Amino acid sequence: VIYREPVRGSLKETHLGVRTSSERLKADEDSGAIAVKNLYLACDPYNLNLIKFSAQLGSPIPGYGVARVLESGHPNFKKGDLVWGMTGWEEYSLITAPESCFKIEHTDVPLSYYTGLLGMPGVTAYAGFFEVSSPKKGETVFISAAAGAVGQLVGQFAKLLGCYVVGSAGSKEKVDLLKNKFGFDDAFNYKEEQDLDAVLKRCFPEGIDVYFDNVGGKMLDAVLPNMKLRGRITVCGMISQYSLEQPEGVHNLMNLLLKRVRMEGFVVSDHYHLYPKFLEMVLPLIREGKIVYMEDIAEGLKNGPAALVGVFSGRNVGKQVVVVSRE
Ligand code: NDP
Repeated sequence: VIYREPVRGSLKETHLGVRTSSERLKADEDSGAIAVKNLYLACDPYNLNLIKFSAQLGSPIPGYGVARVLESGHPNFKKGDLVWGMTGWEEYSLITAPESCFKIEHTDVPLSYYTGLLGMPGVTAYAGFFEVSSPKKGETVFISAAAGAVGQLVGQFAKLLGCYVVGSAGSKEKVDLLKNKFGFDDAFNYKEEQDLDAVLKRCFPEGIDVYFDNVGGKMLDAVLPNMKLRGRITVCGMISQYSLEQPEGVHNLMNLLLKRVRMEGFVVSDHYHLYPKFLEMVLPLIREGKIVYMEDIAEGLKNGPAALVGVFSGRNVGKQVVVVSRE
C-alpha cells in the first residue's frame, strides 16, 4: 500500500494506492537488517501521523505489524522468529533497525493480538492507566473512544482494580459491547447525546476521578467541569482533532485550577521498558478469560486503505487489523 497523494485534513482512500512489485528484499549477513514476511498490520490512529510526516510519496506506508523473519543480518534475530514492531504496509519488508522490534515469545494467543492488546496499544493502555492516571480502587473512571483498541483495555484494567467505569463510543453496537462484553458499569453513544454535560452529570453525579482521554475536543471540554477535586486527566490521544486543519479550542481549562486537577500527556514509546511487566500481568488474565478483546479484521492488503480510513470515522468495532497472510 503506497502513499499516493499528499494528505491535508482527513485521510481518504484516494491518498493511498495498491502497487504490485517483484522486487526481492534481502537482509545480507551482518547488514544489521532483517527481511520479514508481514502477517498482520495494525490500523492505528498513529498511522495518520506516520503518513503525513514519515511516508514518502510513491513508497509503502509505514506502520506497526506482526511479521515472520525470513532472513537475518542481525545477531538478535534468526530465520523463523516472530516479531512485532514498525514495519511496512507490504507483503515483505526489510527492517533496517530491528532493535526496535519485540520478539514474540508467547504463541498460545492469537498472533494478531500483537497488533493491539499485546502490542503498542496494549502498552499504551497499561502505562497510561497504571503509570500516569494514579488510579485507586473505588474511584470513578471515564474513558472516551472506549470500544477501541486502547479504550477497551483501559476499561477492563479499571474494573479489575475495582473502579466505577463509564465509556463513550460512537454507536449503539459499541455501547452494548462496553456494557455486556467488556464489563463497563455504564456507557453512552456520544453521537446521539445533544448535551454531553448532562449525560456526564447523570453518569457521574459526584464527579470523575480519572478521565482517560482518547479524543480531546468537545468531549474534553464537557469533562473538565465534571472532574472531581484532585482528579486526573490522562491525555492519551485527541483523535477528534487529527483531521482538522485548525484544531478546536478548549474553553473550560479554568477547572484544572479550581479543582486542582492534574492533566498529563504521555507517549507510549517512553514506557516500552514496562513491556515484560505488562506481559506478566496481562497474559494470565487473557488465558483465564478475565480480559476479553475484540478485533475487526480486514482480509488482504487491498482492503487495507478502506480499513485504515474507517478508523477515523469509527467504522471499526474493536481493534482494526489487516491480515496480510496467516502463515
Ligand atoms: P481505536 O481503535 O479506538 O480507533 C479509533 C476510534 O476513535 C474510532 O473507532 C472511533 O470510535 C473514535 N473516533 C474517530 N474519530 C473520532 C472523532 N472525531 N471524535 C471522537 N471519536 C472518534 O484507536 P486506538 O485505541 O488505537 O487509539 C485511541 C487513542 O489513543 C487515539 O487518540 C490514539 O491516537 C491514542 N494513542 C496514543 C498513544 C500514545 O502514545 N499516547 C499510543 C496509541 C494510541 P467511536 O465509534 O467511538 O467514535
